[in-house]
Amino acid sequence: MSAAPHAVYIHIPFCTNKCHYCDFNSYVLKGQPVMDYLNAMDQEMARTVERIPPKTIETIFVGGGTPTVLEPDQMTYFLDSVRRHFPDWSGDIEFSMEANPGTTDKEKLKAMRDGGVNRISFGVQSFNNTLLHDIGRIHNTDDVYRSLENARAVGFDNMSIDLMFGLPNQTLDVMSHTLDRALELDLPHYSIYSLKVEENTLFHRLYQRNQLPLPSEDDELAMYQMIMDRLRSAGYHQYEISNFAKPGYESRHNTTYWRNEDYYGIGAGAHGYMAHERHINIKGVNPYIEAASKALPRLDSFSVNKDEAMEDFMMVGLRMHEGASKSRFAGQFDGKQMDAVFHSELSKLLQMELIEEIEDGYRLTEKGILFGNNVFGTFVGALSESEA
Ligand code: SF4
Repeated sequence: MSAAPHAVYIHIPFCTNKCHYCDFNSYVLKGQPVMDYLNAMDQEMARTVERIPPKTIETIFVGGGTPTVLEPDQMTYFLDSVRRHFPDWSGDIEFSMEANPGTTDKEKLKAMRDGGVNRISFGVQSFNNTLLHDIGRIHNTDDVYRSLENARAVGFDNMSIDLMFGLPNQTLDVMSHTLDRALELDLPHYSIYSLKVEENTLFHRLYQRNQLPLPSEDDELAMYQMIMDRLRSAGYHQYEISNFAKPGYESRHNTTYWRNEDYYGIGAGAHGYMAHERHINIKGVNPYIEAASKALPRLDSFSVNKDEAMEDFMMVGLRMHEGASKSRFAGQFDGKQMDAVFHSELSKLLQMELIEEIEDGYRLTEKGILFGNNVFGTFVGALSESEA
């Protein structure tokens, strides 16, 4: 692996409110020291590139939180700071920013565009207003249409929306209606995730009290099947288990993760993977600001040995339609052969018809896509625990 990543992840941990299912590192914006936070990230970026000077940057992804809660002048300040520390951008850089409908007026979108952002990923989740309200989102479908219109008006054409399925009280009909509305937009990319009830969320507390009316497992599986059928028939390539794109619009940044390649990780709670070391930053806003004024604001960092890295490679690689590539595997791991390293795991999964062999590796079968977690779980500790 190269010592200098070509990808940068930056985390803005502020949101207008907290959604009922959210366990991301995000905090309600009101009263937060936003400028101090942006300054602290400026310091972290300076220390980071001093340690590992950047080469040409191919992708930047600003996530959160809701990065678009920044005011236009804060946005400009932030994007200038990114450009200062990571000045060498490839000519076709993919610079994505997450946005929530209702937080993107034209002035802010223009500041984003002027600062180099060329792809927006909107957190839409559903086109059913009742459902949106019930999961704690503060936008409605009108906000979605307005935000997309504003984005198009200032020149964005590379846009994606996130949708969710398996939500409380969501039926197949409700999901089908959402897909109708989403596909009418004719966007180049859709990300569609199932709800996971995570600890420390309102949904988890309701779930424990038996007060969360989730769809049955069969209905959730039927929704996923419907999503795949509808998106594929509409001409979208399912290039990852939750992601669908028109040709050429696959997220290059996320593909970095799925190929197990290095990336800088900046901001509160951000993860990074550089020079065989993973890190996670301090999560709280004020503790992060304080720590970043003195040193790299790490909560934890640990080196990833080759066995763990090889397991990771398989787990993330098999998420993609391109599969876990044998040649990339050999390239990352000093010529090691995937077939030899994971002979028993691959044989078992082939026999169960959960994966299939392709020209340069393995990928999930149609059946494997539905049971992806079982496949990925096969590689957890496959090498690292057997030697422990
Ligand atoms: S907008 Fe996203 S990050 Fe913010 S609270 Fe909702 S789910 Fe979490």
